[in-house]
Amino acid sequence: MTAIKRTPLKIVAMIPARYGASRFPGKLMQDLGGKPVIVRTYEAAQATGLFDQVYVVTDSDVIFKEIEWHGGKAIMSQKEHDCGTDRIAEAVVHMDVDIVVNVQGDEPFTSKEGLEQVLSVFNGADADQIDLASLMTEIHDWREISDPNAVKVVVDKENFALYFSRSPIPYPRDKNTAVQYFKHKGIYAFRKQALLDFYRLPMTILEATEKIECIRFLEYGKRIKMAISNTQGIEIDTPEDLVRANKILKEEKRLPINNKYRNFPMVPKVVFGRGCFDQLTSIIGPYRKDKAPFIFLVDEVFKNKESVISRIPLRFNDKLLFISSFEEPKTEQVDVLVKSIKTEFTYRPSGIIGIGGGSILDLAKAVSIMLTNKGQASEYQGWDLVKNKAVYHVGIPTISGTGAEVSRTTVLTGPEKKLGINSDFTPFDQVVLDPELTDGVPKNQWFYTGMDCFIHCVESLNGTFLNEFSKSYGEKAYDLCLEIFLDPKVSPESAQEKLMMASWHGGMSIAYSQVGVAHAMSYGLSYVLGVKHGIGNCIVFQHLEDYYPEDVALFNQMIVHHGITLPKEVCRDLTPVQMDTMVSIALSLSPLWENALGPDWEQKVNAKVLKDLYRKM
Ligand code: NAD
Ligand code: ZN
Repeated sequence: MTAIKRTPLKIVAMIPARYGASRFPGKLMQDLGGKPVIVRTYEAAQATGLFDQVYVVTDSDVIFKEIEWHGGKAIMSQKEHDCGTDRIAEAVVHMDVDIVVNVQGDEPFTSKEGLEQVLSVFNGADADQIDLASLMTEIHDWREISDPNAVKVVVDKENFALYFSRSPIPYPRDKNTAVQYFKHKGIYAFRKQALLDFYRLPMTILEATEKIECIRFLEYGKRIKMAISNTQGIEIDTPEDLVRANKILKEEKRLPINNKYRNFPMVPKVVFGRGCFDQLTSIIGPYRKDKAPFIFLVDEVFKNKESVISRIPLRFNDKLLFISSFEEPKTEQVDVLVKSIKTEFTYRPSGIIGIGGGSILDLAKAVSIMLTNKGQASEYQGWDLVKNKAVYHVGIPTISGTGAEVSRTTVLTGPEKKLGINSDFTPFDQVVLDPELTDGVPKNQWFYTGMDCFIHCVESLNGTFLNEFSKSYGEKAYDLCLEIFLDPKVSPESAQEKLMMASWHGGMSIAYSQVGVAHAMSYGLSYVLGVKHGIGNCIVFQHLEDYYPEDVALFNQMIVHHGITLPKEVCRDLTPVQMDTMVSIALSLSPLWENALGPDWEQKVNAKVLKDLYRKM
């Protein structure tokens, strides 16, 4: 093993480029949006900013000249080579470099994410045991698992490769065991010595049998660390691939227009009905991975409620954690939970199951994300910052209204801001809607959380972002709220069921629009005074007759109808600094204001307007 040079590692990218590729001759010189494929690949690698240098190593004058012509660096191979690895090994013999990354010449959409993943392993605690690193991606389709063109890899618990094969490995003798299969992706990051060794050492029997280059490393006792990346690249293997790639390039240029419409994920599986909680055992069964526990995050309020706790299907080393929802979830709390799970268990959990209100559901979503994404939760607050698919996660609401069970966000208070982790990986994989679980919610709390739903509808339906999609959900949820909170004929059981569905529809409505004034101002209250979301919305909403006149009147009727009293003068003792913070937190939520008041919202609302409103509360 090479001695490791500590910081900073000198990293180069090498793009092996043979002119006469067997399946599609001359493919690297084909035109892709006005430039040859190989030039696109070169530029993509350079644009990642991860490399000290990027080189193309080629046997072809044509490619060599093309790269130089575009201002890139190319190296001519001196010898004939059997494979790309030999080609780049020859090129680095005399180079002063620590890590060499091979980038496939025919992957013009090489993404920064995959390369970052493969390089990141050299910063891990076990870095000095790693000779080279490579990537793998989760596969689920049995056709792909059994396809000999897809190379599968199995790893040890630290993600070091045990073996690569064109056969499905492991062989699933018992077809009911949930097995995660991984496909190998042909990106490598070598320590220089490992690469030179490869060049020097003759091919061995397993490599020759499977026709998989990297087996040679294993046969000579080298250690290959595998990183997981689920982003899809596009290889140009056939003329059809080239047509497809050209199309993608055109679409990318049109991206601003395309992004006008949201393409958001929905919860793929949901079960509804009184008592459906009992189905949890069979629902999660297929997702159980050998030795990998399910972690149940349950609101502390259920600690002594046997009728619920005894039905939680704990098996083997599953873990049940009672969590207080006295305060809303914090990024730090997520980090602590994730760390304790990682410390206690060798295997990544089979799943995270949240049982509680919006607070616990958000916590469950965030923990499942942070189990597969490095760093701290606060780094992911914002839009689409999450890189890896979360652990399987299930949401089981026990109080209705927030829509957290269906939304694409998990709202967290961080060191600098209160903001959600909004991503395609945030929504639950499964939701269990059992109205019976909402038995026992205290009346005031029922009202506050229920009003969150009502206010979602009001803000969505009166917003400038409204379209038929959000309207269809918003109108249904709004009508349900009127029944639940104003119609005396509705029975308590029926009200529970209706509110559960209103919460869901309200959440779906804002998925395609946005909330508005009440939420913006409630976030300010919450950040400075720790006022919780539901009650904060109510405190604000009663004063918003200028913005939502009819609905504030209805809200006041509901308050009277249910004998709810709201706290008064919560902002009375604020210091000027606190008031300024509150106002600036509220005003920083520009999408909410734009939805409420239109693109010129800054002309319609300002710090003074907000201060006057807050003083009334
Ligand atoms: P919550 O989860 O904080 O729970 C409120 C109270 O109700 C707690 O005291 C809890 O113990 C209690 N409770 C819950 N179920 C109960 C039951 N069956 N019986 C008795 N008591 C019960 O409240 P919430 O209003 O559901 O959620 C608020 C949180 O949701 C906030 O953190 C907010 O930021 C978040 N939120 C998230 C989204 C989203 O889309 N992710 C949307 C809106 C709000
Ligand atoms: Zn809300």
